[in-house]
Amino acid sequence: MFSTDLKTKYPETTKFLTNAILKNKLANSYIFVGKEPEEMLHLVINLAKILNCQKNKNQIGSACDECLNCKWLEKKEHPHALIIVNPDPENKKEQIKIDIIRELLADLNTTSDYFRIVFFGNSNLNSLPAESCNLLLKTVEETPGRTLFIFANASKDDILPTIVSRSQLIHLNKNYDSINKMLKKNSVIPDENELMDIFPVDNFSAVNKAKKTLDSIQKEEIKLNDYLTFIASSKYDEYKHKNQKKYCFLYKNLSKAYLKYKSFMQPKIVMEDLFLDMVNKMT
Ligand SMILES: [Zn+2]
Repeated sequence: MFSTDLKTKYPETTKFLTNAILKNKLANSYIFVGKEPEEMLHLVINLAKILNCQKNKNQIGSACDECLNCKWLEKKEHPHALIIVNPDPENKKEQIKIDIIRELLADLNTTSDYFRIVFFGNSNLNSLPAESCNLLLKTVEETPGRTLFIFANASKDDILPTIVSRSQLIHLNKNYDSINKMLKKNSVIPDENELMDIFPVDNFSAVNKAKKTLDSIQKEEIKLNDYLTFIASSKYDEYKHKNQKKYCFLYKNLSKAYLKYKSFMQPKIVMEDLFLDMVNKMT
């Protein structure tokens, strides 16, 4: 459904969004976390095309790139389907003016033939004055039909917690997707992947696992912190409900490893420490 270049770069994300579109289960609000603003906008434009393409009126599929909606969206000139909110360049603090937000919200309250995407690029929402923020939050909470908010930023930490809690988070990280690829390559059965199992049985296998994992991620040019984030945010989420003690233990050690990495400790030592810490202590 998405363009080939996006599917290649972000296989997990495009698959996830395609599913949501097909099942008619798009959220009201997404946060795209990624380091490449241009590419995030590219993805948003592709999404807006899929949702508004005249060819997709009866059955949703890829965008045609030829109808008026597709063409306008490509030029970022569609007045209704893609609303890009930027800070006021005249304003020294780079704030988004309250008038802009008011106008936007008034617009959203009128019915529209279009599926509307409101896009806050590099949305350091600190650039929103408190008054505008409150207005915006209310709208995100009670989003009008066929309207979607997307907040894009390099990190989710710069986005207001209240927005974060009302949105679905999507990591648009090439490395993140390449970890998935690496895992698939290294294993016949994805769920029983050795590289994902970070609970070794003894010290000997801990050191071995550390070496093997580090070799694999280095070969794929994946950063150690991306690997840690991946472990934290994917498979082991299930422990939250199954085994809370194990969950907390895992996260404590992942954070420890992350801090060591951030303080420039050698990846080899970070990895060995992590796996040694994880040995069997919880079983
Ligand atoms: Zn079209």
